[in-house]
Amino acid sequence: QCETREEMVKRFRETPPEELFNVEKVRIVGLKEAQKPGALHTSTFCSVCGEKIADDQQVYRGGKPVCKACAIGSYYEVIDE
Ligand SMILES: [Zn+2]
Repeated sequence: QCETREEMVKRFRETPPEELFNVEKVRIVGLKEAQKPGALHTSTFCSVCGEKIADDQQVYRGGKPVCKACAIGSYYEVIDE
């Protein structure tokens, strides 16, 4: 299937949403306040690179907030003493 990006956008625009998506009623379970859509709820700074971490995306290493990139990229773990 060779549909260009423009054709896809056009198709999405012309097709009713019920045909494009499977619309179902769902109950959201276990979602943190910060994960809900809307404005930024919280922001922290990464203790490794100093990058701003939006909406509770931080991981804690040794009790300090670390961004996902630093958390995944690091080969060591800070020991909390
Ligand atoms: Zn970082």
